[in-house]
Amino acid sequence: MPKGSKRSIPAGKDLPRCMRGRSKLLDSLERLANIRLIALDIDGTLTDGQVVYSVEGSVQRYSVHDGQGLVWLRRLAGVQQAWISGRAGSPARRRAKELKVECLRLGVGPKGPVLRSVQEELGIGPEQTLSMGDDLPDLALADGSALFVAPRNARGEVRQRADFVTKANGGAGAVREVCEWLLYAKGFWPPAPGQNPEGSAGSSPAHEEGAAG
Ligand SMILES: [Mg+2]
Repeated sequence: MPKGSKRSIPAGKDLPRCMRGRSKLLDSLERLANIRLIALDIDGTLTDGQVVYSVEGSVQRYSVHDGQGLVWLRRLAGVQQAWISGRAGSPARRRAKELKVECLRLGVGPKGPVLRSVQEELGIGPEQTLSMGDDLPDLALADGSALFVAPRNARGEVRQRADFVTKANGGAGAVREVCEWLLYAKGFWPPAPGQNPEGSAGSSPAHEEGAAG
């Protein structure tokens, strides 16, 4: 089966826990299944928004649960990723490399034109783009996307604009939730043990991709 192709939607018993009781999400499965690009803000979305500065540079914390979800999303469903941040920083560059993110845009803005350039580069339009962000500059991503998601602890204005708000905070599994929504909608949930893209213990992909804890 080609990557990203839609299979029949699995039975309700396989519904990810983060989708239970969320009727609006379940009513949007067709729209979710149509997504081919996710565009993510970094600080406060992929991280908890904290940046620690030391004499040796800056330190950020990323969720391994988010990482595993993003690896599944790319490998099983063929969904492409763009990480877009107004702030430059080597931790983000390293994490994106580990996860093989297709498009990394650091130290850029405003985000609307940046997203458009990514979409042109990948040949994927707004109608097949889902974006996610936590602060006011990210509303420009919303304008260029079919669906916009905010982490639970996003700024109020951003939550209000969002089509969906995750149960988890940024950097604490919010991105993983979106990955599970998309995997489910596209018929790739739950990933079978044999499909574990991290491979067996000690194999190189687990280390290269840095998603396993
Ligand atoms: Mg942010």
